[in-house]
Amino acid sequence: INVDDLFDYTSFNIDREPHIVLDAARCGVCTARPCTTTCPARCYTWSEKDRKMTFVFAGCLECGTCYVVCEKRAFTRWRYPRGGFGVSYRMT
Ligand code: SF4
Repeated sequence: INVDDLFDYTSFNIDREPHIVLDAARCGVCTARPCTTTCPARCYTWSEKDRKMTFVFAGCLECGTCYVVCEKRAFTRWRYPRGGFGVSYRMT
C-alpha cells in the first residue's frame, strides 16, 4: 500500500483547535524546509512569493515526521489531537 492509498483507509474527525501550530518566526528562517518533502500527507506548503509556510492540519496522519525533521523546532504547539479527534485508521 502506498501513502496515497492510505487515505482510502482513513477517516478524520477534525477538531476546531489545531494540534500543531507553527512558530512563524522560526519557520521563516529555515531554508531546508524538510517538512515540505517528508510529510506523507503534504500538510506543509512553502510559498516563495509570500515567504511563508502554510500548514493544513486537517489531513494530518499523526506520524510525527515533521516533529522529528524540524531542525528549528518551529512549533509553538505539537501534540496529538484531543481524544476522539484526528485520524482513524480502519482495516479492511
Ligand atoms: Fe505531516 Fe506526519 Fe507532521 Fe502530520 S505528523 S503534519 S502527517 S509529518
